[in-house]
Amino acid sequence: MRIKLKTQISLAIAMTVLLLIVIISIVSNVFIGRQFKSYKKTQQEKSISEITKTIGNQYNTNSKTWNAEYIHAIGMYAMNNGFIVKVADQNGQIIWDAESCDMMACDQIMKSIESTMKERYPKFPGGYTTEDFNITDSGKTIAIVSIQYYSPFFLTDYDFNFLNALNTILIVVAVISLLVAVFIGIIISRRLSRPILNTVKVTKQISDGDLSARIHEKTSTKEVSELIDSVNHMAERISDSETLRKQLTANAAHELRTPLTTLQTHMEAMADGLWEPTSNRLNSCSEEIIRISKLVSDLEKLAKTESDILKLNKVSCDIRWITEKAISLLRFEIDKKDLSVEVNGDCIAIVDEDRFMQVILNLLSNAVKYTDVGGTVKVNLLRDEGYAVIIVKDNGEGISEKDLPYIFERFYRADKSRSRSTGGSGIGLAIVKAIVNAHGGAVSVTSELNKSTEFVIKLPK
Ligand code: ADP
Repeated sequence: MRIKLKTQISLAIAMTVLLLIVIISIVSNVFIGRQFKSYKKTQQEKSISEITKTIGNQYNTNSKTWNAEYIHAIGMYAMNNGFIVKVADQNGQIIWDAESCDMMACDQIMKSIESTMKERYPKFPGGYTTEDFNITDSGKTIAIVSIQYYSPFFLTDYDFNFLNALNTILIVVAVISLLVAVFIGIIISRRLSRPILNTVKVTKQISDGDLSARIHEKTSTKEVSELIDSVNHMAERISDSETLRKQLTANAAHELRTPLTTLQTHMEAMADGLWEPTSNRLNSCSEEIIRISKLVSDLEKLAKTESDILKLNKVSCDIRWITEKAISLLRFEIDKKDLSVEVNGDCIAIVDEDRFMQVILNLLSNAVKYTDVGGTVKVNLLRDEGYAVIIVKDNGEGISEKDLPYIFERFYRADKSRSRSTGGSGIGLAIVKAIVNAHGGAVSVTSELNKSTEFVIKLPK
């Protein structure tokens, strides 16, 4: 069974609060009850000593008489509070007795206390007990106060009302807390589930082919925010590679069409007998076929670069050593054009050796291709603020200002006829850029037409 995240979070919060409320209620009920009972017991002891003391104060030592009126008032007050008082002198002569004063009221009060206690606490080991207290004057007992009360303590209706009110407050607080918890739970779960639902919606849109779909939701939850970022990033990558794929197919078709049309017209003309198949014409056809093969092999290289880009095997490499190896591979072309090639400085960088060899080889072979006989190609290697910098400079044909921004694009050639003669297909620099970017670096170019061209690669170390 699948339960919605919103429901799960709300339920979890509500259940936790409910559990807490139950625990707090039980603990506080037991604790308050116990404290209250002990308080009542002390109060009762205090009341008894108070009654005895005030009755004792009613003795006039001079006239050796008792203030009967006051004793009556004290006794009646005590009776109403559950204490049945009897005062007798040292000879056992009754001075005042609650029971003989108002037998009915005494009975009623005692029964009411007993029945309430039994009803409320059926197992309570309580019962009526009588305690005698001696009242002395100059060390001589002058009276005995007997107090009958429900022992060890009793609770009046007021006390029960107080305890009931406390319980009601606890229940009200519990209900309010529960409602607040459910409300907060709903808000929190909504805030959490909304961006997740949105993410699910957008990923469905992406999988249905809408590659422009993005999540614009902002959230303060770190994990959800990271999820949104990675989905958006993934969509960006898919969309980029889709655009690249379309561009590449269109460009490749366009590039192939020209030599194929030339081949087709030439072949048709020869087949129809309109053209003599001279060795010149056949050679030109063969050149077109070579161009197509070169283009296809460049395309293969580019496809491989782009698919392998995520599998870079980066290690610490001596760039000078890679450069010198690339120069030795181009030695034939360099000597053919009588170029002077210099390598200055050295630097170490964390790169995929094979891929980086491709970068240096492409830049150097361009420099060799586009530099006239007797020219110079210089490679400077240096370290700059935590970057490894590789500069490839030549004093060749240069690149015009209008072409400069586009030379890293696939199939872009500054001068079509010139590149045609050099056999270029406009893919070499695209490969350079893809590899350098995959290493977290950047490649830039500056050039002056008919003077010089300088490529600068900056790699983080
Ligand atoms: P290509 O195979 O045509 O050389 P690249 O992608 O390597 O393709 O280069 C793109 C274009 O940039 C080239 O056609 C050329 O016009 C220009 N270019 C590249 N490097 C140089 C250079 N060192 N000097 C002059 N032009 C260059």
